Amino acid sequence: MNAASDSETRIEALLADPAYAEHPMREPLAQLYRQFQEQVRQLDRITRISDRYQNAAQREASSLTERLNKHLKQVEKIARISDRYQAMLQDLNKRLEHESTHDALTGLANRRLGLARLSELIAADQPLSIALVDVDHFKRVNDAFGHEAGDQALTAVAHALRDPLGGTELVARWGGEEFLLIWPQTDLAAAIEHAQALRLAVPAQAPTLAGRTLRTTVSLGLAQRRDGESVSQLLRRADAALYAAKDAGRDRVMAAQ
Ligand code: GH3
Ligand code: MG
Ligand code: MG
Repeated sequence: MNAASDSETRIEALLADPAYAEHPMREPLAQLYRQFQEQVRQLDRITRISDRYQNAAQREASSLTERLNKHLKQVEKIARISDRYQAMLQDLNKRLEHESTHDALTGLANRRLGLARLSELIAADQPLSIALVDVDHFKRVNDAFGHEAGDQALTAVAHALRDPLGGTELVARWGGEEFLLIWPQTDLAAAIEHAQALRLAVPAQAPTLAGRTLRTTVSLGLAQRRDGESVSQLLRRADAALYAAKDAGRDRVMAAQ
């Protein structure tokens, strides 16, 4: 028993003792003791309230941490989804970019990319030569073997024109069975040599379908860019040379003067 509860026991004993019932200090002591007990009760209450508050605060703090962790996890998940989404978008953009600049059948650059590249080189005033190439009597291939076989023959021509050694800057599918070749830093004489090699490569690389060889030939119209010449002027001269090659009997190279 500690000192405080010891004195309480003694006070309670004194107040209960009938020997002191009429003692003049008994009533003030009893009053003081009641006040003391009331204060102890109040203190108890305050302590209980404070304990409850502390527990509630702890519970609140732990649930705040849980909520924060949950939100963090959600944010991480959203970030992961967003990363994946961005990667998909980049991939899609690349594919779209490729599809908008390349030909689906042959895999070559399409007319848009061919023209853009030619315009770029001419804007930079680069010396260059070009060729417009057209497959000879291609309609007959389709008529004789069917359109699908025609597609295969066309793809084979595209591959043959891809000239690994000739320094061709770009081979583009210009239209149905027509192609554009660009040789930068190349004069007409060198371009004619490249063109002759490609002309021979086309029938040499003809595909075989169901035991039949789809042999095709090409005609090429060449032009070397003149000083100050525009893209369309250069293309017009190459086109005229191509028509001259057709007129002269096909399977040949003609150069614009
Ligand atoms: P030429 O020697 O005068 O050029 O004769 P050609 O038969 O090649 O000329 P023409 O322009 O009359 O015919 C071209 C043919 O090319 C007609 C068209 O059906 C075919 N063609 C164009 N694009 C494709 C294609 O993507 N696939 C197939 N299979 N055929 C195509
Ligand atoms: Mg044609
Ligand atoms: Mg043709």
